[in-house]
Amino acid sequence: MSTWGILTDITKCIGCESCVAACKEINKTGKDRPWRWQQNIDSLSATRWTTIIKKPGHHFVRQQCRHCVSPACVSVCPVGALQKTVEGPVIYDVSRCIGCRYCMMSCPFGIPRYTWDTPTPSVSKCVMCYEKIKSGEIQQPACTKACPTHATIFGDREALIAEAHDRIRKDPGKYIDRVWGEHEVGGTSVLYVSDINLDFLSWDKDLPKDALPGMVFNVLEKVPKIFLGMGAFMYGFYWIIERRERLSEKKKGESDRSDLSDKPDGEKKQ
Ligand code: SF4
Ligand code: SF4
Ligand code: SF4
Repeated sequence: MSTWGILTDITKCIGCESCVAACKEINKTGKDRPWRWQQNIDSLSATRWTTIIKKPGHHFVRQQCRHCVSPACVSVCPVGALQKTVEGPVIYDVSRCIGCRYCMMSCPFGIPRYTWDTPTPSVSKCVMCYEKIKSGEIQQPACTKACPTHATIFGDREALIAEAHDRIRKDPGKYIDRVWGEHEVGGTSVLYVSDINLDFLSWDKDLPKDALPGMVFNVLEKVPKIFLGMGAFMYGFYWIIERRERLSEKKKGESDRSDLSDKPDGEKKQ
C-alpha cells in the first residue's frame, strides 16, 4: 500500500528556514524562547517541530519526526496518545497524553518535546500535517511546499526511495551511497540523501535494521515506576523554579511601585 513520505536532500538545502517558518505558522506553535536547560532557541522544541541543524562547510540538516514505519513511541505510549496512521504519519492526541514521557525515552531520534510551560503539559512533535492533508485543506505539508530549492519534498515513500537511489546513481561523486531512513529501525517515512554522514541524527550511530518496539518495551517495562517518579520530580522541580521567578517578579513590581509613590508628583510623571 502507498504511504506518505518526505525526502530531504542535504545537498540542496540552503538553510533559509522557510520550512521552519511555514511549520510554525500552520501549527500556530508560537514564538521560540530559551529554556533553562536549553538556551539555544534554534533547537527542536515544543514551539519548533522542525529545525535546521548547521554543520561545518555550509551544510544544513533539517530535523523533524521521522515517522517510523514501526514507531517505538507508539508502542510505549500507555494511553494510545500516539498513533501510527495507515497513511504513514505518526500523530498524537493531546487530550489523551498523561505526560509520562515514555515516548521521549523510547524515540531513537530524540524527537518528542514537552510543553513544560502549559498548565497541562503534553508532548509535541511534527505530525506530517496529517489532519490538514486528510481533510483536503492542503495537498502537501507546509514545510515541503515552502522550500524554495525543493530540498525537501513530499510524496509516496516507495517512490521517494526510488528517487533517492536515482539521485545517488546519477551523481555518485556527490552523494554518500546511502538513503537514511530506508532500513534503520524498520524504516522511516522521512528519508534523507546527503553528502555528509547523518548518523548524528540518531542516538546510536549503529541503529539496528529491526523495528524497535519490542526491544524498547522490554527495557521500559522494567523501569516504569522509577521513570514516572522521575517525571513527577522534574515537573515539581520546574514548578518550584517557575513559582520562585513569578514571586520575585511580583516583588520587584511592588518595590518599583513603592519607589514611585515615595517621589514627589513631578518626578512620578517623568
Ligand atoms: S522518530 Fe521518534 S517520535 Fe517520530 S515516529 Fe519515530 S519513534 Fe516516534
Ligand atoms: S510536516 Fe507539517 S508538522 Fe511536520 S515539520 Fe512539516 S509543516 Fe511541520
Ligand atoms: S526551506 Fe528548504 S532550503 Fe530552506 S531550510 Fe528548509 S529545507 Fe533547507
